[in-house]
Amino acid sequence: MTLLTFRFAPSPNGELHLGHAYSALLNQKLAKAGGGRLLLRVEDIDTARCTPRFEADMLADLTWLGLGWEEPVRRQSEHFAGYEAVLDRLIREELVYPAFMSRGEIRAFIADTEKRGRDWPRDPDGVPHYPPADKALPVKERKRRIAGNAPFAWRLDVTAAMAHAGKDLAWTEFTDETLSATHLVEARPQDWGDVIVARRDIPTSYHLAVVVDDALQGVSHVVRGQDLFSATGVQRLLQEILGLQPPAYFHHRLILGPDGRKLSKSLRATGLAALRDAGASPDDVRRTVGL
Ligand code: GLU
Repeated sequence: MTLLTFRFAPSPNGELHLGHAYSALLNQKLAKAGGGRLLLRVEDIDTARCTPRFEADMLADLTWLGLGWEEPVRRQSEHFAGYEAVLDRLIREELVYPAFMSRGEIRAFIADTEKRGRDWPRDPDGVPHYPPADKALPVKERKRRIAGNAPFAWRLDVTAAMAHAGKDLAWTEFTDETLSATHLVEARPQDWGDVIVARRDIPTSYHLAVVVDDALQGVSHVVRGQDLFSATGVQRLLQEILGLQPPAYFHHRLILGPDGRKLSKSLRATGLAALRDAGASPDDVRRTVGL
């Protein structure tokens, strides 16, 4: 039997809250139950928003909770060269293109399209798809703009990528927390349009780094929040075009705040540090999240 490998992969861009605690503790519980490994991955590619201070606090909160993970911890910001090599492959295979439009230009394009009575597609988060113009730019013009230091991001040509994959894609999703049964979910990467896979200064994005690392670290089970459910379609497509072995997924319930909304890192009252300072124990946290 292959070894089960779970991971908890937070971004140190704010304080951990009850939602993170649930995710971390559920991964721990499932790894223990299956005699598997638990990895901790620091997803800190956003070097402006992720800070050493947040990371130190995060590790302290997780230690206090009694998480326990294998060392060394993989810190994504230390692996940019590795992501760049993968990005170079996607560039060579013409599955990504440089996208130059500013937010203002995108907004203007969409307003103009919608004024003419055409709905413009939006992704599952409500963000409009990227307009098609840059995909058609001649190579010479792309090179000219990049050489001239024009700001841009590398976007996945989702149509080309799906054609390259050459088949309908699906992923294996567990039906509940016991991980005893699975079903197949159709991957719908096209719902997201041409997503960003890398920036000019940072040779990766959340989606690219996550699929590369899950494969590299031999993650067999991705257990994470329901809020990432439909993004899994994009990740499944990236795995396919990069020839990476896909893990199985379980997207767990979200811990909601008193207002019934998803917790955010700025909501102090449900922050783990605030709870600890108010006298809560790790067992209180487990009970609160239902574990
Ligand atoms: N780093 C992501 C976050 O903090 C989670 C990534 C994942 O679990 O795939 O939301």
